[in-house]
Amino acid sequence: MIDAKVRTNILRAVDGLKDELVQLVCDTVRIPSCTSMPEGSNSGDTTVDMSGETRVNHAFKRVMESCGLETDMWEVAKGRANLVGIWRGKGRGRSLLFNGHVDVVPPGPVEKWTVADPWSGEIIAGKIYGRGSTDMKGGVAAAVFAMKALLKAGYRPKGDAFIQSVVGEETMETDAGTGAALQRGYRADAAIVCEPSSPPQRFSINIASPGLVLMQVKVRGKAAHISMRSELIRPGGLGAAVGVSAIDKTFLVYQALLKLEEEWGQTKRHPAFTRPGHFVLFPEVIQGGDMLAASIPEECYMIYIIWHPPQDTAESVGEEIKAHIARFAQTDPWLRENPPEVYVPLFSWPPFETSPEEPICKAAAIASEAVFHRPAMLYGGGFTSDASFIRQAGIPTIVMGPGTTGVAHGFNEYIEIQDLVDAAKLYAMTIVEWCGI
Ligand SMILES: [Zn+2]
Repeated sequence: MIDAKVRTNILRAVDGLKDELVQLVCDTVRIPSCTSMPEGSNSGDTTVDMSGETRVNHAFKRVMESCGLETDMWEVAKGRANLVGIWRGKGRGRSLLFNGHVDVVPPGPVEKWTVADPWSGEIIAGKIYGRGSTDMKGGVAAAVFAMKALLKAGYRPKGDAFIQSVVGEETMETDAGTGAALQRGYRADAAIVCEPSSPPQRFSINIASPGLVLMQVKVRGKAAHISMRSELIRPGGLGAAVGVSAIDKTFLVYQALLKLEEEWGQTKRHPAFTRPGHFVLFPEVIQGGDMLAASIPEECYMIYIIWHPPQDTAESVGEEIKAHIARFAQTDPWLRENPPEVYVPLFSWPPFETSPEEPICKAAAIASEAVFHRPAMLYGGGFTSDASFIRQAGIPTIVMGPGTTGVAHGFNEYIEIQDLVDAAKLYAMTIVEWCGI
């Protein structure tokens, strides 16, 4: 339990810093910190200015140092620097690590931002608008201000507290970002990834996320002049002797995968994921044929995003899907002779899982109740994040942060100012409960 007087002091200290916290989020949102996507991705753009991440970290560093935290900032690639804020404890307490990323996904067409410009950091009706407000400069800023509030209230933790503010999360450059920070020795007895964790409830405690796998399925047809189409569709027509539409065949495979996805909704379970249907085979791209070629398309492919439960691996779900497609291909004369090519995993992001019995879950729940006066909610779900890599390093990890996942990566991204203030309170309370003061 958190002492009532300590609680009151902390809440008051955070409230007193509200304007500064809002200012920091506005300032950092105004720094475009998109990075180019890895080679091979459609979004790859080597002309992107890569200095944004570092400029954001400079802004965080200034605030950390102004309140007396130690900092460590180091380059991992030309012009790209990670930052760690360090608050040394008095000793004999558990250490705690906060983690967040400073890079953001591109805003997309600016005209789609109908409420405010993506780099405006404009405040409208209690919300700060802009790319990266929720995902996730707000979360990092809240962790900084949790420490600042504790310092202002005159407290110092027994265990060490760290904030990793890293590059390259959205571009999956884990080795440059979170991986590099862990490698440099910034580890702790538990970790909180400050990504948005609402819904299902504001500031839910996310204890598991699915693994992500990318897959490509390539289906071949047989090119022919478009005038042959009638031979393909009329009863008794010449059919495959003259041509086969790769697009038609792709949709058969698509339907088969849709069936498998429905089956997963019933069969793939994990105790942390209370709602069925969380594990999906989501077709992100379907592409085939040539514009104005007037031919029966020879080739079509689909790219899938697969979310699998933590107990499966990218390889095991890959084998499962390959077997399903192979079985299905036997039911179609053309696909039997020309089986779809399945490339999986093209890419994978590991799942993460922390037992609800881990002490960090209990500490976060106590902190949450102290701020919100209602039971905390532990859940499995959400989305992939650096929690996977921190957990792989052996650190019990949760995801708990301000903002809602519904606005991340979308147009008109915003964060509620109330969420920022509450996040700082929640983090400060978790430091007290976990590290001791
Ligand atoms: Zn994020």
